[in-house]
Amino acid sequence: MTFKVAIIGRPNVGKSTLFNRLVGKKLALVDDTPGVTRDRRVHAAKLYDIYFDVIDTAGFEDAAAATLQGRMRAQTEIAIEEADLIFFVVDAKSGIMPDDKTFGEIVRRSGKPVVVVANKSEARGAQGGMLEAWELGLGEPVPISAEHGQGLPDLRDAVIEALGHERTLGADEDEDEDIAESDVLIGEDIEDPDVELVSAYDETKPLRIAVVGRPNAGKSTLINALIGEERLLTGPEAGITRDSISVDWDWKGRLIRLHDTAGMRRKSRIQEKLEKLSVADGLRAIRFAEIVVIVLDATIPFEKQDLQIADLIIREGRAPVIAFNKWDMIDNPQEALAELREKTQRLLPQVRGIQAVPLSAETGRGLDKLMDAIIKTHRVWNSRVSTGKLNRWLEGILAHHPPPAVAGRRLKIKYVTQAKTRPPGFVVNCSRPEAVPESYVRYLVNSLRESFDMPGVPIRVALRTSD
Ligand code: GDP
Ligand code: GDP
Repeated sequence: MTFKVAIIGRPNVGKSTLFNRLVGKKLALVDDTPGVTRDRRVHAAKLYDIYFDVIDTAGFEDAAAATLQGRMRAQTEIAIEEADLIFFVVDAKSGIMPDDKTFGEIVRRSGKPVVVVANKSEARGAQGGMLEAWELGLGEPVPISAEHGQGLPDLRDAVIEALGHERTLGADEDEDEDIAESDVLIGEDIEDPDVELVSAYDETKPLRIAVVGRPNAGKSTLINALIGEERLLTGPEAGITRDSISVDWDWKGRLIRLHDTAGMRRKSRIQEKLEKLSVADGLRAIRFAEIVVIVLDATIPFEKQDLQIADLIIREGRAPVIAFNKWDMIDNPQEALAELREKTQRLLPQVRGIQAVPLSAETGRGLDKLMDAIIKTHRVWNSRVSTGKLNRWLEGILAHHPPPAVAGRRLKIKYVTQAKTRPPGFVVNCSRPEAVPESYVRYLVNSLRESFDMPGVPIRVALRTSD
């Protein structure tokens, strides 16, 4: 999972300024989907190629007692407990105060990895504060200026050092490039708030799925068919009706974990149809999952709502797989399938090559194909392309379809790296990222998808410059 960072320190050292810089304005906003609220206490953040969550401590501060002691308890201890890494911010301009030492003590006692951040280092006389920060004994302070955006590459390096390559970048990240000071896109081009940084495909971990779809599409029937009936009647969760749980089962040796939303599996226990899940329930299920099965009633496929949910899944960086359910009711199966598949690709170009499987949850036909499609898509979602291959690909692109000239100046692409997996995300380093047309970015995405065989999953491309 993504690691969480808590920004800790006494008032006025610049915590909020740093927070805003890491999170970026766009990301501090709540989700724009109506009815969906994010967990406001955690915000997606990014430092160049490192993606993580920052715990928003502002709320804790307000809630706490009026005294500094009280605030410290509330703000610091709750946040530290949740955090995997602490940014302990001090003010290099004013130097170390007694309160800094109190905070330092709390941080030390927590035993969590810590990076001492010496903020306001651009200020005259900050050198003395740096030395004092050393004396806190919590490691080498990283001088930054949150306000002016300086020192952030060093902060990035310090994070990698504190947590290790594997947790921050993925174990097989072969490049550890120096990042230029001028690379200021921090937190702005990120789309996925819940990035999981993994190194290699791990078959021993449960593959997490969720099943979504309109009422009556056949979700409960499908889930029951997949899990097996006898498992439904028992279980520690019997009796819980409103919240959701997960259930594991084995499919041909592959462990599958399903996020089961109350009202699906246990529907028989419930008099009325309770499956009118709130958008928030659906979103929770999607976030839990790696692969999301969208169940469509093949006799009435693709309504607006189906496309909205597909869009949400893609925006969340998950990979959808489509189940055309009730296939037993279809008269002209071959024709219908060709038509439906064509429609699917046309309506969902962001996940070109998406798997779409006809099946009957009631008879059980097609379930194996669905599981195959899920596993295949999961592999693609986890795929990683080496920098060497990417740059050979780039040579081809530059030879045959280079970026256009804008205002008489040719845009230059320098190199491409894969910054993350799950879903695949690439960083394209180029001159004037802001001038690259949207259509060219789409071209790059499609070409990556085809060249490296990544059908059916969202692919992200972030442009940035090192000039
Ligand atoms: P917080 O109370 O720790 O959240 O601190 P704030 O982020 O509210 O910052 C406190 C004050 O320090 C504000 O006036 C900021 O503008 C200022 N500040 C923050 N970062 C810097 C910096 O890097 N350099 C300088 N000189 N001032 C800064
Ligand atoms: P949910 O609301 O999405 O959970 O849908 P249900 O699983 O409750 O199914 C809705 C209705 O469709 C029920 O009457 C099911 O018996 C029926 N149904 C589900 N799957 C199939 C199928 O594969 N074929 C047919 N003919 N009916 C199905």
